[in-house]
Amino acid sequence: MIRKEGKARWVYTCDLCNVRLTRPDQFRAIEAMQRHQRSQEHGFKVIGAALEPFVEAMSNIATAAASMAETVHAVFAPPPNLPHDPTLLRDRRKWGGR
Ligand SMILES: [Zn+2]
Repeated sequence: MIRKEGKARWVYTCDLCNVRLTRPDQFRAIEAMQRHQRSQEHGFKVIGAALEPFVEAMSNIATAAASMAETVHAVFAPPPNLPHDPTLLRDRRKWGGR
């Protein structure tokens, strides 16, 4: 965005790159803007900003898949290896110490 901040003080700011260029007149400010927008750094930033929702969606899908895998694991996990008979649980020779 190009703004006039004062006499002979035209400022171009790129919010994406956090870049701030000051030129003495509007035409040089426009030229600076075009030069910046053609620069590699700005291009990569634009591409990154465009891909951000996609990356976020992919990470959401990954977390959803992880939680689903956890659920499936909880459902199909084998039962704990403990006897059904509580008297066997109280038998300390086998279940917990001497
Ligand atoms: Zn930029």
